[in-house]
Amino acid sequence: MPNGWEERSHADSSPIRTLAPPTPNATPQSSNPLSPTLLMPSPNYADILLPLALQDTLTYRIPAHMQLAIGQRVIVPLGKSKRYSGFVVRLHNEAPDGNFTIKEVEDIVDETPLLQPAQIKFWQWLAYYYMCTTGEVLKAALPSGLKLESEARILATDTTPDEAQLTPRQLLAYRKLSADTPRSIEDLTHENVSLSALRFLIDNGFAQVTEHMRESFKPRTETYVRLHPDLLSDERLNEVFDSLKRSPKQDAMLLSYLHLSKPASAITLRNPKLLREVSKRELLHESGGTDNVLKGLLDKGILERYSVEVGRLKASAVAQQLGARPLSDLQQRAFDDICTQFAAHSIVLLRGVTSSGKTEVYTQLIQRELEQGRQVLYLLPEIALTTQITNRLGRIFGDKMGVYHSKFPDSERVEIWRKQMSAAPYPLILGVRSSLFLPYQNLGLIIVDEEHETSYKQQDPAPRYHARDAALVLAKQLGAKVLLGTATPSIETYHHARSGRYGLVEMLQRFGGVNMPRIQIENVKELRRKKLMKSPFSPALVEHISAALARKEQAIVFLNRRGYSPVLDCRTCGWTPHCTQCDVALTYHQRENQLVCHYCGKSFGMPEKCPQCGDTQLRDQGYGTEKLQEFIAERFPTARTARMDLDTTRSRSAYEQIIRNFQEGNTDILIGTQMLTKGLDFDRVSVVGIVNADQLMNMPDFRAHERAFQMLSQVAGRAGRRDKQGTVIMQTRQPDHPLTHQIQASDYLGMFDEQVQERQLFRYPPFYRIINIYLKHTDDKVVEAAAAHLGSMLRPHFPDSLLGPERPVVARVQLLYIRKFVLKVAPSLPPAGVRATLHAAKQSLCATEAFKRVQIHYDVDPL
Ligand code: ADP
Ligand code: ZN
Ligand code: ZN
Repeated sequence: MPNGWEERSHADSSPIRTLAPPTPNATPQSSNPLSPTLLMPSPNYADILLPLALQDTLTYRIPAHMQLAIGQRVIVPLGKSKRYSGFVVRLHNEAPDGNFTIKEVEDIVDETPLLQPAQIKFWQWLAYYYMCTTGEVLKAALPSGLKLESEARILATDTTPDEAQLTPRQLLAYRKLSADTPRSIEDLTHENVSLSALRFLIDNGFAQVTEHMRESFKPRTETYVRLHPDLLSDERLNEVFDSLKRSPKQDAMLLSYLHLSKPASAITLRNPKLLREVSKRELLHESGGTDNVLKGLLDKGILERYSVEVGRLKASAVAQQLGARPLSDLQQRAFDDICTQFAAHSIVLLRGVTSSGKTEVYTQLIQRELEQGRQVLYLLPEIALTTQITNRLGRIFGDKMGVYHSKFPDSERVEIWRKQMSAAPYPLILGVRSSLFLPYQNLGLIIVDEEHETSYKQQDPAPRYHARDAALVLAKQLGAKVLLGTATPSIETYHHARSGRYGLVEMLQRFGGVNMPRIQIENVKELRRKKLMKSPFSPALVEHISAALARKEQAIVFLNRRGYSPVLDCRTCGWTPHCTQCDVALTYHQRENQLVCHYCGKSFGMPEKCPQCGDTQLRDQGYGTEKLQEFIAERFPTARTARMDLDTTRSRSAYEQIIRNFQEGNTDILIGTQMLTKGLDFDRVSVVGIVNADQLMNMPDFRAHERAFQMLSQVAGRAGRRDKQGTVIMQTRQPDHPLTHQIQASDYLGMFDEQVQERQLFRYPPFYRIINIYLKHTDDKVVEAAAAHLGSMLRPHFPDSLLGPERPVVARVQLLYIRKFVLKVAPSLPPAGVRATLHAAKQSLCATEAFKRVQIHYDVDPL
């Protein structure tokens, strides 16, 4: 990636910078993709946006024979020999000044534009607000198959073209490709291969852009059961029921199946396709029967099983006729209220306690939008969550729904992108933050589910954007509404709702009148004093889990620390192992018998003896999820346990397997980190154990209490869904802490009021905006000096709102030393002015010879 210096050298060489900072919230431009601002009287120049960290777009001359449209992809030269595909973002006749020859656009890649003017405008806003370049946004936004950078590598596929049908240029290009050695575009263009010919080959499946993520994708399936087609008549069914007289459980399960599959018309017409599809999970739940009973029916050939791939492009057409379920009175009231509020507010917050049935309300809202011919974007914070929701929504919206996220193969993302530009786009997109970058033709509503989730914020690399906040801007630009949904709103969001900026709708009871879980506090300090804490579990937690297991119910145990043990030290001298690249202690992982750095991921072998004193016995202290699982297996030897944390869910299929096993009752105790807190819906969990609440409450961060409240309430919310109150055992050393009481009483408002006061007093969001400034360099002295210099430039502009420079808690990561400033921007300061000052300071710093290699970046609204 070019650093500041290279950027300038590009600009000097020929094309020039042109992009003015966009004004946020200006009126939307026309967004019809098929009739872009195409035919203005033969413009001479095109501003091209490239997927590079250039500050601005570059201007090129348009050759006389060429006609360009905004959003169209073209090939342009850059530097001495590089070629890039970029996007036309502006057409004009303003000759750039300067005495250099302006290079020409070389080629058009696709006939029709791939981007809408509205997308370009949104991306420019993101670059402006989050202080990065539009090129970086473009890079993040486009699936790699649409990028075609010089470095991109191309392979021939198994599909061979009919060579007689190819043009000479296409044939030349095809002959230069190989099926097993990827060739870079750069090399190919040196051999006179034209990019539009390559594009043709890629578009027609004869060639592909290689990617690295492919292997991680496995189709997801769910087990379904159906009546054997031979039994689809009243007589045969009667015979079957006769044969089941001695097996009342099988009889009951078959009845449940018939109840669910609504077979009347299927029987009349002898058409198995008319049976409603029934998942195994649904059947077991409805009938209350076990796997064994089902196995009996399967073995007798009465029912048969099959699997259905869920969530992918075509697969979700499964069972469309299912329809949404009728809303309860409370849900209906919330729905009506949301619709009313949308008349006065473009943003509405739905605060619905866990298990209040928010998803059903979203479903109705989506249906309403689709009926009125508008599109909906359903945003989720994390890929991990999409499976359950894909299942639920897929059954209702079938092939009207497209699922978009980065773990899907690139080709599939390209397919969705093109479909969204076509005349028949998906009306509903379900996706994670990157789906904000898709083209929308008629967006009516964005639903931001679990709006409080921190994973909505992209940390690295740029653009470091918050998808919820970006969604608010996108919606405003496109004239759409936004529904923010959660049980535990972020302080910022609830503040805006309280102050009337957003509409507010609340559902404070669980669906079906189920009670909120009972939260029992266990005072670990006291138990220790009485010598009752002989393990990480208090006697009460052990007792509740045993009782749940005896009742064939499930338990969840939450510990927000992965690995075996977080601290390892030498018994004799107290030495602890540290990462060689970062300033952090290593975590011991037993299965790999390695020490792992949770910052950079590097792992180290276990030392045989203490390098400091030679003692051979290192001692592990404290519990991570891995060690906790070991303890649980010893304590509850007959229980089936599973662990869900970053280490056990490296692949998507592993994650799904864990969820499915738990859902289908093949796991009794699920142990996990914060991954457990994310909106999962299980039916048979009666106990949730929170092993160490203090660890979250005591984080050194102004959001620690908010986060702890959210995480602990969410994990507690997994207990007792569906029809029964659950129990939560929360172990803490601070039983009298106000936060402990707030969590116990589900007192969101109590927590909110307290936090808001503190935020105001100490000048934090939502009252002040924060911009973090990071400097990194391999040499601690250089970064120290650079930080001092930057501080001296900025301090006059922000005399009492710039804090730092300081060493962050982890002051060295991946060999780079770090300094950090925190800028608290008063609401009275003009945002554009603040940004201009920061940009100028960065430029000036990078222009100083000694600091040329210092990395500097801004993190706007950090989490
Ligand atoms: P939330 O997202 O608010 O935590 P869910 O949408 O997951 O809650 O709903 C909680 C449970 O209640 C789910 O198991 C769901 O299937 C059930 N449920 C919610 N609304 C309805 C409804 N209208 N009809 C039947 N079941 C419902
Ligand atoms: Zn030692
Ligand atoms: Zn490290």
